[in-house]
Amino acid sequence: MDHFQYKNGVLHAEDVALADIVAQVGTPFYCYSTATLTRHYQLFTEALSPMPHLVCFAIKSLSNIAVLKVLADLGAGMDVVSAGEYARARAAGVPGDRIVFSGVGKTRDEMRMALTGGIRQFNVESEPEMRALSQVATALGKVAPITIRVNPDVDAKTHEKISTGKKGDKFGIPISRAREVYAEAATLPGLKIIGIDVHIGSQLTSLDPFEAAYLKIADLTQQLRADGHTIDRLDLGGGLGIPYARDNNAPPLPSDYGAMVKRTVGHLGCEIEIEPGRLISGNAGILVSQVIYVKNGDDRDFLIIDAAMNDLIRPAMYGSHHDIIPLNEPPAGADQQPFDIVGPICESGDTFAKSRNLPEMTEGALIAFRSAGAYGAVMSSEYNSRPLIPEVLVRGDHFAVIRARPTLDEMLARDTIPEWL
Ligand SMILES: *Cc1c(COP(=O)(O)O)cnc(C)c1O
Repeated sequence: MDHFQYKNGVLHAEDVALADIVAQVGTPFYCYSTATLTRHYQLFTEALSPMPHLVCFAIKSLSNIAVLKVLADLGAGMDVVSAGEYARARAAGVPGDRIVFSGVGKTRDEMRMALTGGIRQFNVESEPEMRALSQVATALGKVAPITIRVNPDVDAKTHEKISTGKKGDKFGIPISRAREVYAEAATLPGLKIIGIDVHIGSQLTSLDPFEAAYLKIADLTQQLRADGHTIDRLDLGGGLGIPYARDNNAPPLPSDYGAMVKRTVGHLGCEIEIEPGRLISGNAGILVSQVIYVKNGDDRDFLIIDAAMNDLIRPAMYGSHHDIIPLNEPPAGADQQPFDIVGPICESGDTFAKSRNLPEMTEGALIAFRSAGAYGAVMSSEYNSRPLIPEVLVRGDHFAVIRARPTLDEMLARDTIPEWL
């Protein structure tokens, strides 16, 4: 369920006609719905409500500060993976004690920044990182609260590029070595062990891999407690998938996920943290684009549009599907024809969809990519010197540009020509 629907034949974001945003902002642009962000966050807090919990939004999925503020104002925590994301969380008004620091390669500078600014916990991913963090914390006269990310060796059954919980993946420490690594952590003066962390992948469409992982975490909790460690908090990661195609089998609901969490780890009395990204932001955003040309090829017709792989890389990178719909609702039963929908970049990978059925399309027609809120704007680049596209946030009947389209001069101003050239 999202808030991008046709009303009187034109696509709206909540109560705003997208054509009105096009008129002010131009195309292409990303548009996010406050109501959808709120609803998805609340689905998680409700699903976990029988247990003490904190829902930490994975900033990497959608990191605009205005979006973060929507969630922060609802009480959300944030999961950050870099100094930049930490700074964004703070700029959105998130207190340090609601920020969790994840990632396999935290630098000492990043550790210092978070320890000084305030942090809920570090999710430590390796022994060298653990030792470095202890040194940095000790030098600052602080103690870093930590969980250790364990790799439970379960197959998340998702795209290989976003599967993270199998033996051989670069993430966490093998669960078989967890007791040994916790034992060392307990000896390091700058660390305070508070719990366990696990994250097995993204866009999971079944609860089974989560359940397998969480059962292992429940066992490990008891072993580590028996070893004398304090395990009060379980960070269960993100990864719940969303329906990208409307005709798809729907992935599990947050409520089913919450019930499974309670069943697998609820009896341990731990505070539960989760780090959803995609499920909160994915269907809360669309990408709006315009047809530049309709090109009739030998054996197919192309829609050449003004968005490209630099703006939305998921189809090129993961072969992902996005539903694509016209801003003007086609009449019921209107004829459809297949198009290859492509961007202007000189790479065959700059293809959003092949043989996709759409009603008649003409130059200037406006279309929307659905489910583009997560891993859309954040993964964009300026490839082909195409400036980053704007982001717009809607609430009810008003909207605001929350990241403006840079001018060409602003883009060029970041380059400098050395004096000696
Ligand atoms: C990517 C990531 C997430 C968020 O994953 P989603 O699939 O967007 O929910 C959460 N935690 C960690 C450690 C991640 O790397």
